[in-house]
Amino acid sequence: MRALLTTLLIGLSLSSLEVAADTEKEKRVRDYPFEQVAENSWVIHGPLGHPTVENQGFMNNPGMVVTRAGVVLVDPGSSVLAGEMVLRMVKKVTDAPVVATFNTHVHGDHWLGNQAIRAAYPDAPIYAHPNMVSEAESGKGDQWRLLIERQTEGLTRRTRVELPDQLLNHGDELRIGDHTFRIHHYGQAHTNSDMMVEVVEEGVVFLGDNVMSNRLGGMQEGTFLGNMQTLKRVLESGAKVWVPGHGATAGAEVVTTYRDYLKTVYGGALLAFEEGMESDQLKPLIVERAAAYRDWVGYSLEIGRHAGHAYLEVESNEF
Ligand SMILES: [Zn+2]
Repeated sequence: MRALLTTLLIGLSLSSLEVAADTEKEKRVRDYPFEQVAENSWVIHGPLGHPTVENQGFMNNPGMVVTRAGVVLVDPGSSVLAGEMVLRMVKKVTDAPVVATFNTHVHGDHWLGNQAIRAAYPDAPIYAHPNMVSEAESGKGDQWRLLIERQTEGLTRRTRVELPDQLLNHGDELRIGDHTFRIHHYGQAHTNSDMMVEVVEEGVVFLGDNVMSNRLGGMQEGTFLGNMQTLKRVLESGAKVWVPGHGATAGAEVVTTYRDYLKTVYGGALLAFEEGMESDQLKPLIVERAAAYRDWVGYSLEIGRHAGHAYLEVESNEF
């Protein structure tokens, strides 16, 4: 009897321990260490894809530059949990405090982690393009928060919208410690709120979602021509290390590969328009022309949408 009771008690306490461990897991995004991409520049390459329970909603590329004045972050993730993970990973590289954060555009998978950064470093400014702040304020911030909460089945529910408090425009330069941060914005590209951050001394550019690698994402707030033009302009910086919003950091080929994808889809839509094709011929045409990209994550979800979006853009450009 006593043995049975003991077994039962052990069983009970084990299962309550397991529950505690599960609850603890829910409070943390699993660790994704920073990878060094230049002398003082680091990137966490998040999983590809869209927010899910499996990836705990975390799927972007947070960046870090270690300056003499402290740590500068770019896009600290999709939730307060992701932001807390980014801060844990910063600590594995340096004890220096966070002194500034950049947000590359309005999509919440890139910046809802602001909450964790502001809680830990309330005096460190958070920078973004003015369009990012106005769009996030007028509803997109909460839409993204709720979208990610739903896609992670509530895992990110503690997340709140924390907006940037400093605005930057094209050509602005910030000197932080021994580094120069130069802002690039060439109008509507992936969205109307894109801000790319060039770290001049490092030869590094954080591209936001103007470039993705091995992954396709939504273009509904962007334009194909605008995105291509933006990439042409930012390539003129001559930077050596290019950090996409999603996917692996690489040389300039990561930019030209994505630009070629945009060109392929837009070119296909232009051909369909000029030949007066029926709308049901458009997608097969573009799928055929974009075959080189069919292994990219999100391809089957996005290719039809991209084709339709590019066609509408062609129509309005050619009319
Ligand atoms: Zn985006």
